[in-house]
Amino acid sequence: MSFKNFGLLPELQRAVEEMGYTQPTPIQIQAIPLVLEGGDLLAGAQTGTGKTAGFSLPMLQNLFKMNKPRGKVRALILTPTRELASQVEENVRAFGVHLGFKSIVLFGGVNINTQISKLRNGVDIVVATPGRLLDLLNQRALDLSNVEILVLDEADRMLDMGFIHDIRKLLAILPKKRQTLLFSATFSDEIKKLANDLLNSPKMIQAATSNSTAEGIQQVIYPVDSKRKRALLSFLINSNQWKQVLVFSRTKHGANRLAGNLEDDGITAAAIHGNKSQNARTKALDDFKNGKVRILVATDIAARGLDIDQLPHVVNFDLPNVPEDYVHRIGRTGRAGNSGEAVSLVCIDEHQLLRDIEKLLKRKLPQTIIEGYEPDPRIAAEPIINGRQGGNGRQGQGGNSRQQVAYGRTPAPHSRSKSGDRAPFGSQSRPSMTSQTRSPAPRHAPSSQRAPSSEAVKKFEIMQQLGESCS
Ligand code: AMP
Repeated sequence: MSFKNFGLLPELQRAVEEMGYTQPTPIQIQAIPLVLEGGDLLAGAQTGTGKTAGFSLPMLQNLFKMNKPRGKVRALILTPTRELASQVEENVRAFGVHLGFKSIVLFGGVNINTQISKLRNGVDIVVATPGRLLDLLNQRALDLSNVEILVLDEADRMLDMGFIHDIRKLLAILPKKRQTLLFSATFSDEIKKLANDLLNSPKMIQAATSNSTAEGIQQVIYPVDSKRKRALLSFLINSNQWKQVLVFSRTKHGANRLAGNLEDDGITAAAIHGNKSQNARTKALDDFKNGKVRILVATDIAARGLDIDQLPHVVNFDLPNVPEDYVHRIGRTGRAGNSGEAVSLVCIDEHQLLRDIEKLLKRKLPQTIIEGYEPDPRIAAEPIINGRQGGNGRQGQGGNSRQQVAYGRTPAPHSRSKSGDRAPFGSQSRPSMTSQTRSPAPRHAPSSQRAPSSEAVKKFEIMQQLGESCS
């Protein structure tokens, strides 16, 4: 199969060649012909599958063939994060370079007036995060009455980030007669409902089973005590001479601290999350992409959609609370058929999270104990606090206002402490300990006594206020 088989315009064909794409990816093979037909599409495609070209190429062709006057917004692409919006717009621009369309990317955290003056000059394609788009609409800086193609990219993440109301407001003002394409990595009931309301007799395609991880990604779990994760990470980076590593932290504060710790260890690092200014985020990403910093420490939402060419390593410094996020995280590596390595540092508090991930993947992940970093069997599990702070989701980060607390999952803390609903870590095959165990002294009574100690409860309360995680 080649791009020539799609009957794409010569201008698009040329752009594809200039991008260095030789063969379409599976999602492109399925999506391009269907979108060219003009109908609605519901696509299950996780990140890294080539979905952007899957919708952009036929979208550009359809816009071109409609042969309407230029300078009015006729295609709207909504994305959950600023970084993804930037990347999608870059792609749209690159694919459309020989067709002469004007595109713009619109997101918060940057001067709205610059965006308004660019919009005044006329654009054909808008790529935007929902919050800033609504702000611009409220200021009457934008007219969406000519939109003929709407794309919702990473729709599941948009809902996770609490954008549903913004999306529904936008839908209410868009023309009813349009082509709508919805891309999502996962299909919750909420997504199905949105698709039902939004799409008109859609064709459905699935790139790879959602929640399955891309082939070519080697995954490994390193069991380690939470207090020793930082040292293990520095050790792994140095001993393996990793040059470019995307590290996931559960919290913004944790991301900052870890980046600082790595710097202290002589490893260049930057953090990217929603509390950083857009300029700082852009700089961190640029420095990481061009090799000025070796390590980029990111929170889930900030990292969503990041496309780093041939990223070799992803490290889960903390496991995500939502198992699907594991798939999204490791999907940053092994993109477009490249190989990659995904490493997870898992402390005892996270054993239930690991089990949830393995259940989702329908397989056990291999575990390796690194000599000198063996977990201390005397340490009992403690609650994990998800430090995402509330918010309206407009900053491209932290929009999920749920404050999650768990012993490896997400029940409410008060019900858990009574029922003892903790990660039954004893059921997880415990790594055998070696005589080189170096972990700190036990923090708690043996694991058989599972009621949280007052120290743990206090720690939990303090952490909850700080938005801090266990590690
Ligand atoms: P996406 O899933 O759209 O974010 O794409 C993931 C990465 O794959 C991006 O770096 C794309 O430039 C790249 N890519 C997409 N399609 C192809 C293709 N047919 N051949 C090679 N690389 C591709």
